[in-house]
Amino acid sequence: MTSLALKGQCASPGFSAGIVVAAGKRPAPQRAIEKGGKGDPAAEALALTAAINRAVIELRRLVESASGEAADMLGFQIAMLDDEELTQPARDEIAAGKTAVEAWTRAMDAEIAGYEGSDEEYFQARANDLVDMRERVLDALIGAASTSLPPGSIVLADDITPSRFLSSNWEGGAILLRRGSATSHVAMLARSRGVPMIVGLQADDIAGRNVLIDATQGLVIVDPSSTDATRFEQQCAASRARDMATAGFLGQPAVSRNGERIITLINIADPSELDGLDPACCDGIGLVRTELLFEGATLPSEDAQTDIYTRIVRWAAGKPVTFRTLDAGGDKPIAGLTPLGESNPFLGMRGVRLTLSRPDIFLPQLRALARAAAAGDVEIMIPMVTLPSELEATRALLHQACAELGAAQIAHRLPALGIMVEVPAAALTLGTFDAAFLSIGSNDLTQYVMAAGRDIAAVAALADPGHEAVLRLIGMISAHGERSGIKVSLCGDAGGDERFIPQLLARGVRILSMPPRLLAAAKQVIATVNLESAS
Ligand code: PEP
Ligand code: MG
Repeated sequence: MTSLALKGQCASPGFSAGIVVAAGKRPAPQRAIEKGGKGDPAAEALALTAAINRAVIELRRLVESASGEAADMLGFQIAMLDDEELTQPARDEIAAGKTAVEAWTRAMDAEIAGYEGSDEEYFQARANDLVDMRERVLDALIGAASTSLPPGSIVLADDITPSRFLSSNWEGGAILLRRGSATSHVAMLARSRGVPMIVGLQADDIAGRNVLIDATQGLVIVDPSSTDATRFEQQCAASRARDMATAGFLGQPAVSRNGERIITLINIADPSELDGLDPACCDGIGLVRTELLFEGATLPSEDAQTDIYTRIVRWAAGKPVTFRTLDAGGDKPIAGLTPLGESNPFLGMRGVRLTLSRPDIFLPQLRALARAAAAGDVEIMIPMVTLPSELEATRALLHQACAELGAAQIAHRLPALGIMVEVPAAALTLGTFDAAFLSIGSNDLTQYVMAAGRDIAAVAALADPGHEAVLRLIGMISAHGERSGIKVSLCGDAGGDERFIPQLLARGVRILSMPPRLLAAAKQVIATVNLESAS
């Protein structure tokens, strides 16, 4: 048999090998209905209640080990399953003579169709949760194993839900998606847990086939030959050896070859990324993306936000934590919040433009951040800033938040307020901003300087943070910081990318923020750079 090479895009790097399991179409409703058997309505109603209870117990178990947006999403499903309004149509069908399986399938299909057909993006986005709930209860009804996959599975699906991801043990496994996106929540979760994941894979039915996966290259070899297998083994061995050599750097401070200390911070999007991570491995948190918190079924309350932010601040144990206010829009649309139908969402109501238009959302977030600041060293930064007036309007709201908290005698502190430098107009007029600090968002800065969308594969080569135009601007921002004494960091993906770190250091950047998994490799690269020869 000749091997077949399939190509997709890397959403989370790493290697895996084994037999592919198909997922995502379980159980086919018709098959489930056939397997459901027939019984009297009382027994069917009891079976449905028991299955819903089992699904709720499974979800509660998952909530215990989840946090942030994932916990929110699971909480939404529990609340829905507890709600008689959702389950009553299925009970009515049972009373009319249907089996529990048929009744539940029909009732949920109707509900899902309603959500999918809604004009509101918020409800459309919830349809996937309902599919998840339908399948979890069906599994319980037809006696299928729980919705979790066997540990270490290599799963092929069109897409998978975060709850499905969280229900499974991925140790040794991988995720292959025909659709999906590298910026989805599942992709973010996969990256933070080190699960190899490929999206946009052109694969029909490779279930049951043997594969070798190099997710870093977005490559899947189906039915590998012995030559493929030998090459793959060599690549894995080389990668393991590199990882071992790199791991030794994690607990060390980052120091350049000529002895200059470089500050290395981490980026997180969910507090669960801090689980098992020792704060000693970094100098603080340079970017807390807060978008995931806002993607649950309901907007997070000020108290819920305060709890999460405070947990993060306590983890940092006195080290600085920089929270970014909500950056909805562009590559991070939030159903119900970001406008529909913008011709170019990256140039529209995004980041601070959106939050300033929604003080009902912005003010509670600023209040929650000021409250969390009572527990440690908190800084607030605003995304997508173009004009000084946006910084000043945010400052006014932050002062209002603190005044309100003071009047109500709620513990808080006024955090330092800085800006992300990711819009070229801001980068070129920094002297007009009264910001406490600057953080370079190299992902957006690159796309806006190069006029190349960060999510458009066809122009990926143009969206290059190593292009002289981008690096020159980064050098200008660093020089401004040096002249004015304003702290400058860089928190875009380039900050953790071995290819770009030497160039960023050469342009004067001395504070880099990156995903925790990249810290060790970044410190290893920093140790090879001689900054004396760069200046
Ligand atoms: C950036 O643009 O570089 C950045 C850090 O923010 P995000 O990737 O979340 O837009
Ligand atoms: Mg950005």
